[in-house]
Amino acid sequence: MKIIMLGAPGAGKGTQAARMAEKYNIPHISTGDIFRANIRDNTELGQKAKSYMDKGLLVPDELTCDLVMDRISQDDCREGFILDGFPRTIPQAEALTKALEAKGTAMDAAVDVEVPDENIVNRMSGRRFCPVCGATYHIVALPPKKEGVCDNDGAALVIRDDDKPETVKKRLDVYHEQTQPLIDYYQKAGILKTVDGTQSADDVFEAIVKVLA
Ligand code: ADP
Ligand code: ADP
Repeated sequence: MKIIMLGAPGAGKGTQAARMAEKYNIPHISTGDIFRANIRDNTELGQKAKSYMDKGLLVPDELTCDLVMDRISQDDCREGFILDGFPRTIPQAEALTKALEAKGTAMDAAVDVEVPDENIVNRMSGRRFCPVCGATYHIVALPPKKEGVCDNDGAALVIRDDDKPETVKKRLDVYHEQTQPLIDYYQKAGILKTVDGTQSADDVFEAIVKVLA
C-alpha cells in the first residue's frame, strides 16, 4: 500500500504514520525527520534546510523531491510506504505522480487528517520530540512514561525549534497557501480519504484503518 498523509502541521500525521508503518509493515518516510537528522549531523542539506525550517517556510522543492524519489526507490519500499510531510506543494505532488507513472504505478490513498487551526497551537506547544529516534509525544495528550524522557531510548526530549508560537502561525499560513490545494488535487485523482483528527490518537488510528480497508 502506498499512502500519503495530508494535514496541517501538528494534525497528527507523524503519530498516525508511525502506527500505520507498524500495522502494515511498510516504511514511514517523514521528510521533516530526514531534514532534522541532516541538521543534527550538520550536513550541507541540513544547513540549507534549517534556514527555511526555522522561519516556518518550506524547504525548496529542488532540495526535497529528489531525496524522496531516491528513498521510495529503495528495496524496502517495494511493498509500499507511507509519506508523511510529502508532498507539500502542487509541484511536489506532480513530481511524485510522474515518478510513479514512469514505474507503471501510483499512490493508493491520500489520508487527510482534519484538525482546525484553533486546535493546532495547543498540539504544537505541547509537542516534545526525541532527537535520537524521532519519536513524538505530547505533554498532556500523549505523554511519555517518564516525564521528559523518550520511552524507546531514554534520551531527553526536546522542543522543536520551529514549534515556537510565532513560527507555528507562519507554518499554518504556509500550509493553507501551499499545501491545502493538495486536498483538491488528490480528490480529483480519486484517492482522497478524510478522517476527523480531533479525536483521541487511538480513535484517529481506528478511523484511518477503516477508510483504508
Ligand atoms: P509538521 O510535522 O509539523 O508538519 P514536519 O516535520 O513535517 O512538520 O516538517 C518540518 C519542516 O520541514 C517544515 O515546516 C518544512 O520547513 C520542512 N519540510 C518538511 N517536509 C517538507 C516538504 N515536503 N517540502 C518542503 N519543506 C518540507
Ligand atoms: P504532525 O506530524 O502532523 O505535525 P504530530 O504527529 O507530530 O503531527 O502531532 C503533533 C502533536 O500533537 C504531538 O505532540 C502529538 O503527540 C500530538 N497528537 C497527535 N495526535 C493527537 C491526538 N489525536 N490528540 C491529541 N494530541 C495529539
